[in-house]
Amino acid sequence: MQVYKWIKNAHFALLPPACLICAAPASGQMEICDACRRELPWQSSGCRTCALTLPDHADAAHCRDCQLRAPPFDTAHAAFRYASPVSELITGLKFNARLACGQLLGTLFCRSLPEKTDLPERLIPVPLHPRRQAARGFNQAGELALHMGGTLGIGITRSALVRVRPTSVQSDLPARRRAANVKGAFRANPDAVAGRHLALVDDVVTTSQTARAAATALRRAGARRVDLWCLARA
Ligand SMILES: [Zn+2]
Ligand SMILES: [Zn+2]
Repeated sequence: MQVYKWIKNAHFALLPPACLICAAPASGQMEICDACRRELPWQSSGCRTCALTLPDHADAAHCRDCQLRAPPFDTAHAAFRYASPVSELITGLKFNARLACGQLLGTLFCRSLPEKTDLPERLIPVPLHPRRQAARGFNQAGELALHMGGTLGIGITRSALVRVRPTSVQSDLPARRRAANVKGAFRANPDAVAGRHLALVDDVVTTSQTARAAATALRRAGARRVDLWCLARA
């Protein structure tokens, strides 16, 4: 058993990790090669308060909706536009439990943060309903937060936010029904959040209604500041 373990570890030390996208040798301590990393759909310009992708060279720092009505986030950042191959990596994490995808994506997110980012005190992954989490075995937002927190030295508070009622999968609903589907779906624990600067972590943000409902719960429980950190913005 010991010998087997030694051989297995030696194998890892000798062979560089392979790129999760093209299987070429990876570089820079991450499971991605330089060519694939350059080609990723990095989000070059996003709304500062909801991370919606803005046209390149847009004059305004905020999207039209945020100009009309401030969202419950103080700032928002997305590493990517929701496009291939990031979408496949997220699917790999979410539905095929390829946890290596979570490590890669979490690390890439940290590299995408602007240099002067005011880092939060704690990361709060958007929770799944306990029944869905039991079925999946893990929470993809929790996996991302784990690697973001590990890279940046920020702790995760999983008990800060709970999903108190099951909701339909947002992508199965028309946009107009998504806000009602998640309204009141979250409850935050004031002991864990009051007075704190938090970042809410999610994998994909589409209409942002889930993230808004979660951020609203954190604010009502007394959070001082809530930033939205999403891996990819649709
Ligand atoms: Zn590659
Ligand atoms: Zn916006």
